[in-house]
Amino acid sequence: MDLFEYQARDLFAKHGVPVLSGEVIDTPEAAREVTERLGGRVVVKAQVKTGGRGKAGGVKLADSPDDAVEKATAILGMEIKGHTVHKVMLAQTADIAEEYYVSFLLDRANRTFLAMASVEGGMEIEEVAATKPEALAKVPVDANEGVTDAKAREIVEAAKFPAELHDQLVEILKSLWTVFIKEDALLVEVNPLAKTPEGKVLAIDGKVSLDANAAFRQPEHDALEDKAAANPLEAAAKAKGLNYVKLDGEVGIIGNGAGLVMSTLDVVAYAGEKHGNVKPANFLDIGGGASAEVMANGLEIILGDPDVRAVFVNVFGGITACDAVANGIVQALELLKSKGEDVTKPLVVRLDGNNAELGRKILTDANHPLVEQVDTMDGAAERAAELAAAK
Ligand code: GDP
Ligand code: MN
Repeated sequence: MDLFEYQARDLFAKHGVPVLSGEVIDTPEAAREVTERLGGRVVVKAQVKTGGRGKAGGVKLADSPDDAVEKATAILGMEIKGHTVHKVMLAQTADIAEEYYVSFLLDRANRTFLAMASVEGGMEIEEVAATKPEALAKVPVDANEGVTDAKAREIVEAAKFPAELHDQLVEILKSLWTVFIKEDALLVEVNPLAKTPEGKVLAIDGKVSLDANAAFRQPEHDALEDKAAANPLEAAAKAKGLNYVKLDGEVGIIGNGAGLVMSTLDVVAYAGEKHGNVKPANFLDIGGGASAEVMANGLEIILGDPDVRAVFVNVFGGITACDAVANGIVQALELLKSKGEDVTKPLVVRLDGNNAELGRKILTDANHPLVEQVDTMDGAAERAAELAAAK
């Protein structure tokens, strides 16, 4: 889960990384009072989960409360790389003499943690890496040892930071490492890490990505989720323990197992080329088990997507055999009907694998007017695409 800058800043402050005071607002008028409270001069910063806000006009200095209202008016509602600005952070400003870069991240390829640091901060680090790779120090961090004084010093020296800042930077790196470990982050990044003309070092912009797999031991992280941005169907699926992803086509897809679901997306997109270019509208992986309840939950979510015009249920029976899946589908349709959510969109079902014959017979006997069976994956994808295009 990626955080907004203001949330990253809060975590930095919590663990001792030096930051400037700031507050988040979502209406321009609120800027006046906040700016007064922060001392009369602020930087107004778009809160969107993408970089390059400065270049896009989403970071502006304001030298009075009125000016802050004006800047907030300009920035709220702005689009930055496809993200609409709903909130701005007002923060105290710093005079900046130098801009540096530091980060800790999980280096999957090398199975270790990695520190990256550069005196070439401010601009996007990908650009530094591409144009001036020698200016980006990369220092592996052992998971068991972490960032000790010696490791922090190694990073600071590798990046060739000015000698008079070494002691300060060592403390900042240790605090930033504490954020990384204590918050179960996959990435903590400061860009710029700024040096003021007086020689004080401050985190001016922060990026934090938290490891969702650690959510069970980080109860406070739930509150950091951007509930407004989450798709309501994705949220409903998550609450029911299902893996659902919204896409922008017309064919709803339910399958069991990630591999089968991924290849189903491909065959549907391919079949759709012949049928008005219909595409997958979403996909839902019901996983290994497919009880009536799981199937009902899955169908409810897939059918709840107004973009869906036809559904393709693609199941390869394994430990959960096709007859159990077929019973699941039949019961799911009854369950939805009894809840007043009768199915009104066509369902194409392909059952194969363990007990396929029996599963197909169960569906044939149930004789639901909107359920059609096709025995092959390609054929079923074709039919689902055709139905979606016809509607
Ligand atoms: P980004 O463009 O999304 O990475 O947003 P940043 O928060 O990094 O801001 C972009 C740039 O704005 C920084 O690199 C700074 O040069 C500048 N900036 C941000 N805050 C301040 C500030 O308080 N004072 C000054 N002088 N410049 C700032
Ligand atoms: Mn930045």
